[in-house]
Amino acid sequence: MTSDVDRPILHAFLHDPRLPRLEARMLLEHVLQKPRAWMLAHDTDPIESWQAQQYQVLASRRLAGEPMAYLVGRREFMGRDFAVTPDVLIPRPDTELLVETALQWLQDHHEAAVLDLGTGSGVIAVSIALDAPHASVTATDASASALQVAVRNAARLGARVDFAQGSWYDALPARARYDLIVSNPPYIAHDDDHLRRGDLRYEPPCALTDGADGLRDLCAIIAGAPARLRPGGALWVEHGWDQAEAVRRLLAQAGFRQITSRRDLAGIERISGGSL
Ligand code: GLN
Repeated sequence: MTSDVDRPILHAFLHDPRLPRLEARMLLEHVLQKPRAWMLAHDTDPIESWQAQQYQVLASRRLAGEPMAYLVGRREFMGRDFAVTPDVLIPRPDTELLVETALQWLQDHHEAAVLDLGTGSGVIAVSIALDAPHASVTATDASASALQVAVRNAARLGARVDFAQGSWYDALPARARYDLIVSNPPYIAHDDDHLRRGDLRYEPPCALTDGADGLRDLCAIIAGAPARLRPGGALWVEHGWDQAEAVRRLLAQAGFRQITSRRDLAGIERISGGSL
């Protein structure tokens, strides 16, 4: 049996010089399954050697570039904790703008039917279902493994969402109609260098790029929306930093009115939408 003297002290890991302080702390919270406050109060405690080993494995993976969200299996979105796996895009703070816009629209449209196309981890659909409890929310994804993550998130957070598998509108019954459609589709062009940098290298390519110019899926979603929306219905989509003008044009071509783009926290036109 090893004595306490030989066992590694938490403090040494919290101050791992190879990683930013926040990342070392998040990995340790994950390994020890303890909140931040506990760790700060116990930083002179020894930790088990298997925990130290587990930390070292995660730290090496982080140093090799793996995203934090996949290493710890979660990411916060709109103040809630969502499970995240490599089967889904890592939720971005930019996407909160899409949810906030949907929630504003729902303030004037109680009991609306909302559709989230390409839900991934489910952050959009689950956040809307929880913050607009009178809305009925449906969410789709082409990927069965992504839907498993979304179903798990809805269950864990107590959100009522109907899930359906399939490509965009193909996932839905022919007669289904909605009041509000939202989507954060893959919108990065297939030859964009960003796909080969940072976290994006580890995310599912089908959640990032449409395999074309970045507008193909946006175009399919916008063109198909009028047939699925009730009169007065609205559509909002997230898009890339340089796509707002093209998306507004697609919305106009599809017959939408009151077409607007909204800027994210970085001042970039990040979402566009309109009504019928
Ligand atoms: N917002 C993501 C990025 O630029 C892309 C997500 C998407 O294609 N929907 O990293």
